[in-house]
Amino acid sequence: MRELLHDAHGRRISDLRVSVTDRCNFRCQYCMPAEGLPWLEREEVLRFEEIARLVSLLVGLGIEDVRLTGGEPLVRRGFPALVAMLAAIDGIRDLALTTNGYLLERDAGALAAAGVGRVNVSVDSLQRDRFFALTRRDALPRVLRGIEAVAAHPEVRPIKVNAVAMRDFTEAEIARFCEFARSTSFQVRFIEFMPLDGDRAWRPDAVLSGAELRAAIEAIHPLEELPREPAATARVFRFADGEGEIGFVNPVSEPFCADCNRLRLTADGKLRTCLFSLHETDLRGPLRAGADDGELAGLIRGAVWRKELKHRVGEPGFRPPPRTMSAIGG
Ligand code: SF4
Repeated sequence: MRELLHDAHGRRISDLRVSVTDRCNFRCQYCMPAEGLPWLEREEVLRFEEIARLVSLLVGLGIEDVRLTGGEPLVRRGFPALVAMLAAIDGIRDLALTTNGYLLERDAGALAAAGVGRVNVSVDSLQRDRFFALTRRDALPRVLRGIEAVAAHPEVRPIKVNAVAMRDFTEAEIARFCEFARSTSFQVRFIEFMPLDGDRAWRPDAVLSGAELRAAIEAIHPLEELPREPAATARVFRFADGEGEIGFVNPVSEPFCADCNRLRLTADGKLRTCLFSLHETDLRGPLRAGADDGELAGLIRGAVWRKELKHRVGEPGFRPPPRTMSAIGG
């Protein structure tokens, strides 16, 4: 009987986020400086076969859900081929994608055919000029076309739209996002701004909390909370009149670490046991040095056993990880 991955806090680990690149074609202010960041060299980045081998090994240890992220995963050349390699691995229950949507119109068909089962698209504003101001790309119409393109594939569900919530920006977006959630089949989720930005400009008072957003929404639309799935990151509500769903991911104001089941693999082959980890376990080095599956599994089990109980954002002495969001992949 295979021994499933558990940490020292008794949490079963079954969800893997895989960052396939640190590169991105956007420059979102809450993530990256306008000039971008020093990218990983080509040889530092895991090759498709290496990603597939590590994912397959991790699935053998009990991982069931795999989410592909970046940077922006669709900028990685040949990405649909990687999706197909991973979709062929027995034991993956859910193969998901997080994207900024800019290349979705081009790739939607190939991604659906390759085996992507669900998609989260990051859209922080539904107003073209404000979208441009925040992402430093005039791309909203193209992103919305991309969402429509993937929506044309009924095998890719659900489709969720994630908006990072920032004080003195997102308040002016609430009504439009409510209408968007109510007039489409896409679930909208607001995600609290986290101290993982490249500019290190995050401040606690820049966080617009889920509770504040929910209160503003309930002033116009009554909401009913839906049951929370185990290890879910979002609190999801439906509009009381039945028109759509809206969610809140509140890692800062309402941490959900108690039943965290997540692991992360970075584009350069480091295993991260928490979004805010200050430590990482190198898998690329041993893998390229010829380690067998048993040795790699030992490294993984050791790292998972040491998984942090929770993040310490807002606590005295909190230190953001040296790696920023674009190189972790959310
Ligand atoms: S902050 Fe870390 S422990 Fe908490 S939910 Fe996220 S990954 Fe899990």
